[in-house]
Amino acid sequence: MAPTTLVTGGAGFIGSHLCERLLDEGMDVVCADNFATGSAANVAHLLDRGNFRLVEADLTEPVDLDEPVDLVFHLASAASPRDYLRLPVETLEAGSLGTRNALRLAEEHGARFVLASTSEVYGDPLEYPQRENYWGNVNPVGPRSVYDEAKRYAESLTMACHRAHGTNVGIARIFNSYGPRLRPGDGRVIPTFIRQALDGEPLTVAGDGRQTRSVCYVDDTVAGLLALARSDLTGPVNIGSDEELSVLALAELVKEVTCSNSPIVFVDRPEDDPRFRRPDITLARTSLGWRPRVLLEEGLRRTVDYFRRERGLPPMSERV
Ligand code: NAD
Ligand code: UDP
Repeated sequence: MAPTTLVTGGAGFIGSHLCERLLDEGMDVVCADNFATGSAANVAHLLDRGNFRLVEADLTEPVDLDEPVDLVFHLASAASPRDYLRLPVETLEAGSLGTRNALRLAEEHGARFVLASTSEVYGDPLEYPQRENYWGNVNPVGPRSVYDEAKRYAESLTMACHRAHGTNVGIARIFNSYGPRLRPGDGRVIPTFIRQALDGEPLTVAGDGRQTRSVCYVDDTVAGLLALARSDLTGPVNIGSDEELSVLALAELVKEVTCSNSPIVFVDRPEDDPRFRRPDITLARTSLGWRPRVLLEEGLRRTVDYFRRERGLPPMSERV
């Protein structure tokens, strides 16, 4: 039996693209997901591939697999602020118990373990751009802490297993990823702006819109995770675009790409919303030979076309 790659949270946004890419490269893939924020529909197109198996499993419970596993990607966790604020305890448990179970499985199989961590471990950063050796500025009792602290704990646990048990691990700190299969209602900025623009509704910019993000197209995010998996780097390593823009500029760009006349309205900014986010990606460039390749406008165009397709509309380029 060929060794298998396990993707926890594989029926989510990034996970579904990762499963697809692994299958395209000829790997056997098991996707384990409890569908808390993802759905079987995200991987339905993969089900007729012989080397893909979808398992409904909650990673906060121990998971057993019959097949030999040589690589575990641990993505199982709510990721959108709207989702993790709705599922606060589940999110902390996915980061703690879920990570423990995924690590245990990797250890039992002698597999490499890749943790999908996040730029949120830097909190509202006081250093700019964020390098991996920055310890972060996180409010441990604020609403976002259920996600930030879960991921900080997950990183700590991953390093503890590495140091104490010699577990083969790699930690990726993913910065905002976007692309097809984002849910229009998941509350994250890009799917929200695209949905609003396509519906002719006002685009809801939080605060004055001067806060920044550096958004990375999902194919590039997945390529970064794969490059980390295939290296012996422990990390943590930032995986994200270093092209930074304000949320207001992003709203304007979405309006442009969708040819929308929607107005921009300003709404309350969420508590503890980070003001700046831009990764230093020197480590990923030099150690993994990775860098983002898809330009923002092109990535947004592909994402808008996906949202249009989901509504039965032709791509922007074929619009009459
Ligand atoms: P997502 O919500 O689309 O996917 C997460 C998946 O995990 C879902 O399919 C969900 O059902 C599953 N899941 C949640 N709890 C689970 C549990 N206990 N057991 C089994 N499955 C469970 O989110 P995403 O954007 O695809 O994020 C994937 C991973 O990448 C997450 O760990 C997230 O923290 C990390 N990440 C994502 C981003 C981003 O911009 N998308 C940025 C930083 C980090
Ligand atoms: N945001 C916004 N309007 C929205 C949703 C989000 O202006 O409808 C802002 C949000 O306040 C934050 C940025 O966009 O400053 C990114 O938010 P998102 O929830 O996508 O991800 P985060 O990086 O905060 O986890």
